[in-house]
Amino acid sequence: MGEFVAKYRDVHKSFGDVKVLRGIDLDISPSEKVALIGPSGSGKTTIIRMLMTLDTPTSGTIEVNGRNLWHMEKNNELLPANEKHLREVRGDIGMVFQHFNLFPHLTVLKNCMTAPINVRKESKETAKQRSIEMLEKVGLGDKLNHYPSQLSGGQKQRVAMARALVMRPKIMLFDEVTSALDPELVGEVLEVIRDLAEEGEMAMILVTHEMDFALDIADRVLFLNDGVIEAEGPPSEILKNPESKRLKDFLSRFT
Ligand code: ADP
Repeated sequence: MGEFVAKYRDVHKSFGDVKVLRGIDLDISPSEKVALIGPSGSGKTTIIRMLMTLDTPTSGTIEVNGRNLWHMEKNNELLPANEKHLREVRGDIGMVFQHFNLFPHLTVLKNCMTAPINVRKESKETAKQRSIEMLEKVGLGDKLNHYPSQLSGGQKQRVAMARALVMRPKIMLFDEVTSALDPELVGEVLEVIRDLAEEGEMAMILVTHEMDFALDIADRVLFLNDGVIEAEGPPSEILKNPESKRLKDFLSRFT
């Protein structure tokens, strides 16, 4: 399949009359760790949802491994590429959401086993082994038969990560994964992300308000404002020596 690369070109997105993204150009390299910061409502979630094919751009192109996720119809509408292609692309991408999105009626183990069995057509035994391995990796090897309702928020979020990892994604998208958690549970979740980042192979895009964490693990920080990437660069530059006034103002809220 080659190495994972995502490429956005002049991507625009409107919801009705509201222009959320106004020309996004962005390349994600294999194994790159990117932090996406910016005010609430600036379009951060929309950017990563489009890569997961959960939202369609209004115009522009997004390529994954050199293949476009959309094609243009006669009436200038963008439509998803064919289902087979999208399935392949989605298979390379894992996403962890702010509100976990676990299946409440399934145990922790079954939550992880569902996608490999249904999407990848793996045998139950293979899916089970891999799920146990990933749940151990996130420190939940002793919770396999618990239901989500029996877990803390931090534990639920770690299940969500294990569930994504089971699919061996080439890129993981983290959408404010700590913002719904009680403060004392944030650390355990960041710790798992840090371990994954240190392993190195996967590319990651993190939408986050944890500036110290971004400084620590990101190769590059993007500041999204008013639908454009207003500043980008190494974390030391963007977070420690910001040039734009709007970025300075934004960061001052976190100190
Ligand atoms: P962020 O992640 O930076 O907070 P979002 O990408 O979630 O921003 O949202 C950007 C803007 O798009 C917000 O104003 C939001 O209300 C709007 N928006 C997002 N999704 C939808 C939708 N499905 N329908 C209408 N408006 C939406």
